[in-house]
Amino acid sequence: MTSNDTELAPLEFSVTKNLAARPAAQREEVLKSPGFGTTFTDHMVDVCWSARGGWHRPRVQPYGPISLDPAAAVLHYGQEIFEGIKAYRHADGSVHTFRPEKNAERLQRSARRLALPKLPTEYFLQSLREIIAVDGDWVPSGADQSLYLRPFMFAKEAFLGVRPAQKVAYYLIASPAGSYFTGGVKPVRIWLSETHARAGKGGTGAAKTGGNYASSLLPQAEASDKGCDQVVFLDQDGNVEELGGMNVVFVFKDGHIVTPQSDSILEGITRDSLLQLAEDRGHTVERRAFSLKEWRDGVASGDIVEVFACGTAAVVTPIGALVSAGFEDAQPIGELALSLREELTDIQYGRREDKHGWLLRLDA
Ligand SMILES: *Cc1c(COP(=O)(O)O)cnc(C)c1O
Repeated sequence: MTSNDTELAPLEFSVTKNLAARPAAQREEVLKSPGFGTTFTDHMVDVCWSARGGWHRPRVQPYGPISLDPAAAVLHYGQEIFEGIKAYRHADGSVHTFRPEKNAERLQRSARRLALPKLPTEYFLQSLREIIAVDGDWVPSGADQSLYLRPFMFAKEAFLGVRPAQKVAYYLIASPAGSYFTGGVKPVRIWLSETHARAGKGGTGAAKTGGNYASSLLPQAEASDKGCDQVVFLDQDGNVEELGGMNVVFVFKDGHIVTPQSDSILEGITRDSLLQLAEDRGHTVERRAFSLKEWRDGVASGDIVEVFACGTAAVVTPIGALVSAGFEDAQPIGELALSLREELTDIQYGRREDKHGWLLRLDA
């Protein structure tokens, strides 16, 4: 399979420039304070797939509405997957992304679980280069700013029967992103959802698919009602899974680190990278089942000295409290989370040596 990928002929993208692209002054105005996920660049990438023709009609075109048949399978049965990855501007003006082959591979794993076609890694990387080629000026240069890239794939075949779609679309859109936290990184309050599950054994928890997010919205609303910022989910055995969109990491007094592992957790690339940096510093990392009881006992005894959440959008967020219907446990705040955050973002923004070869330049 891998040898197939390397021999793949590159896609030949047709490029249609957006004649209504915003002028530089307007773009610069947006980039001063881009927020998150509300403004989009002038172009998008799309590639079609059909059971007969494979991947075809690769295009770069003006950003705009997608026309879909009302019977498109995604609207009825949710056959959809996505990714989230950022492009960073370095001090010399160059544009880089971080471990994109990991996102490509995860998109392939998600595709497999949702019975969608495999987008070859090379095509995925090409799509990132194509969007930067037309919209590279949209990569902001302010502190903690980036261009958030959102690749996604969905079943567009007009057919109400239930089976894997034979017509699929892959898109890539881009959205300038500011610092996730206005006014510094603040510890979050986490609501323990005891009535709702995010995923089940053998389910789609390990795939990055919209359905997982749809089912997290009600518990998330419940969390907000209880004065919390995010939800943490447990599996059916009482083991900690993750937040709706971020992985969780526990730091112990003796320096070892534990993070939950199971087939119902989405394997974050941010987590993997932070834990690699921690191992480089001499920390031992265990990836295993981790129960709520271990969490609560560890905090009560002082064995656990820090708990944090991580993901591409917010990078690292310390957890300040675990709240449920029956208890509220204040969480200890340490220094490792923020120190790893700084090391990781230093690499991403080119301020520190990229020893692991994680960066890929996109604008050359
Ligand atoms: C995307 C995502 C994460 C974080 O993954 P990163 O690769 O670090 O961005 C964690 N949990 C869920 C459910 C996700 O969808």
